Amino acid sequence: MTERIFNFNAGPAALPLQVLEEIQASFLNFKQSGMSITEVSHRSSYFDDVINDAVDRAKRLLKLDDRFHVLFIQGGASLQFAMIPMNFLSKDDTADYVNTGTWSTKAIKEVEVQKKNYTVVASSEDKNFSYIPKNIQFSTNAKYVHLTSNNTIKGTQFHEFPDTNGIPIVCDMSSDIFSRPLDMEKFGLIYAGAQKNLGPSGACMVIIRQDMLDMANVDLPSMLKYSTYASKNSMYNTPPCFGVYTIDLVLKWIEEEMGGLEKMEEYNIKKAGLLYDFIDSGSFYRTTAQEDSKSLMNVTFRLPDEELEKLFVVKATENGLGGLKGHRSVGGCRASIYNATTMEGINALVQFMESFEKENK
Ligand SMILES: *Cc1c(COP(=O)(O)O)cnc(C)c1O
Repeated sequence: MTERIFNFNAGPAALPLQVLEEIQASFLNFKQSGMSITEVSHRSSYFDDVINDAVDRAKRLLKLDDRFHVLFIQGGASLQFAMIPMNFLSKDDTADYVNTGTWSTKAIKEVEVQKKNYTVVASSEDKNFSYIPKNIQFSTNAKYVHLTSNNTIKGTQFHEFPDTNGIPIVCDMSSDIFSRPLDMEKFGLIYAGAQKNLGPSGACMVIIRQDMLDMANVDLPSMLKYSTYASKNSMYNTPPCFGVYTIDLVLKWIEEEMGGLEKMEEYNIKKAGLLYDFIDSGSFYRTTAQEDSKSLMNVTFRLPDEELEKLFVVKATENGLGGLKGHRSVGGCRASIYNATTMEGINALVQFMESFEKENK
């Protein structure tokens, strides 16, 4: 490849070209420091400015008030599966979990292994996780309700968040954070591994509300307590500096180039709409998610048979369209079209799909 491809990877995923170019341009000499951002001390004013800017931008974009803390934690979203019950559930406490796919199943496993109490209050496993459950009855005594806002592998997404009767929602937003505005009143904690919609792998963004911090267990190893990160601006130990720096540039791009989260959402709706409309207009391709649950970020679809799916992925790759193979656990095809995916990329994909259909019908 001599040119950049249209990248539909699920994660690590495409980043805005502008961000990559900015990293490239300042990589050897960051802000006249004579050092790369990967070489400066995390205790220096250079890095302080970066992490503070990232936190401020996240707060502005999501309209967070002073109750919210923005943290950067290593260990990916998967460590959060474990830290959440560890921090919020004592012996007699319980939490509600909604099971909408592979990632929530893994989140539940981490509660189970800690022998904490929980209830799976809704699940879409009966239909292969092809939909988002509705009319969920939550427990009155739950400390939190755990949701996965976007199911990266199954291609479904919460388009509205349920009313939990005031119980804080703890939400895995790894694959749709900053893709749309949020009503943060409902959320006690949201978290997102960076490598889908935010930056490189190695950093997980956690946004936690003060009342959740106040009820968190303090009898834990330092690195597994939210309070450690909140009290030290995520710098109790060396943070994932390059990850935080890239996230800052991505948030700047959303704010200054894309015009904020309302605009970002409009663009995402337009992009996904184009792709879904094309798929639904014929019978050669078919989506796997139910109509009202379709994800704007991960478009999962099938072809008439598995041989054609294999050929589709091979031919797409040859044509500069990468990452279209479905997750190994489900097969099929998947186009991950996060914030950084352009309309140009969607158009190229639709054009390719049209011609592939003509040749292989
Ligand atoms: C990718 C993903 C994860 C796992 O993230 P890691 O950072 O690899 O631990 C968890 N949840 C969702 C929704 C994901 O898309």
